[in-house]
Amino acid sequence: MATVSAARPPKLRSRPRARTLASAAPEEVADGVWVLRGGLLRTMNVYLVRDDERGGVLVFDAGEKGMAASIVAAATPHGGISRVVLGHGDTDHRGSAPALRAYADILCHPDAVGQAEGSGGRDYWRMEELPLDVRMLHSFTHRFIWDGGPVHIDGTVREGDRLAGFEVIDLPGHAPGLIGLWRESDRVALVSDCFYMNDMHGRPQPPSLPLDCYNLDTEQARRSLLKLIELRPAIACPGHLGPLTGPDLIAQLEAAAAA
Ligand SMILES: [Zn+2]
Repeated sequence: MATVSAARPPKLRSRPRARTLASAAPEEVADGVWVLRGGLLRTMNVYLVRDDERGGVLVFDAGEKGMAASIVAAATPHGGISRVVLGHGDTDHRGSAPALRAYADILCHPDAVGQAEGSGGRDYWRMEELPLDVRMLHSFTHRFIWDGGPVHIDGTVREGDRLAGFEVIDLPGHAPGLIGLWRESDRVALVSDCFYMNDMHGRPQPPSLPLDCYNLDTEQARRSLLKLIELRPAIACPGHLGPLTGPDLIAQLEAAAAA
């Protein structure tokens, strides 16, 4: 397994202007759940979940590395970060996690540890299937903008574990050990990259399965999307753009799974 330092990094010294550039102000999308939209195109979602068990807020997904100070600043009025749970270990979901380890433990599914502590997904992506311009842009952004590098994982979570009033659900396929958080009482699902609402250029699109070249196993990703549909969410919060709400939510997800 990859060797990544278990030493805690120093806490961040953050400047308000840099934080404004890195992400928008948090928006409440459900009771005690906020989305922080980061990145230049504001497509990188990090969720803050009120954590009554531990105090503070649980951070779900860690976005790109430049968002770390914004995440800390957004969590501070709620009592700080209780724990960070990665929806999966890809570069644009672990981005700020190395810096956030100054504040809290980083957790993920056992099957995501290899990616989070290792290549961040690059060993199973098939970039050669993308158009050349997208390939060049993505290899640049993954390396210089998104990825904060390998992160030491402090503990693991599995399907059925309860965290901050949510239940962990397995949604693998796009990435190994991809998990979501599900709250049955108001049917809120935080689903990381179970489906995409942006295309390969970052532009908005209807919900779709992630592109095959970025998936470990697209058919498994389809089964995970069908599993999400069976839960009948009232709001589905993906890793990029969204959230998906409204009376046609299920029909939109069904169309994505059938494509
Ligand atoms: Zn992603």
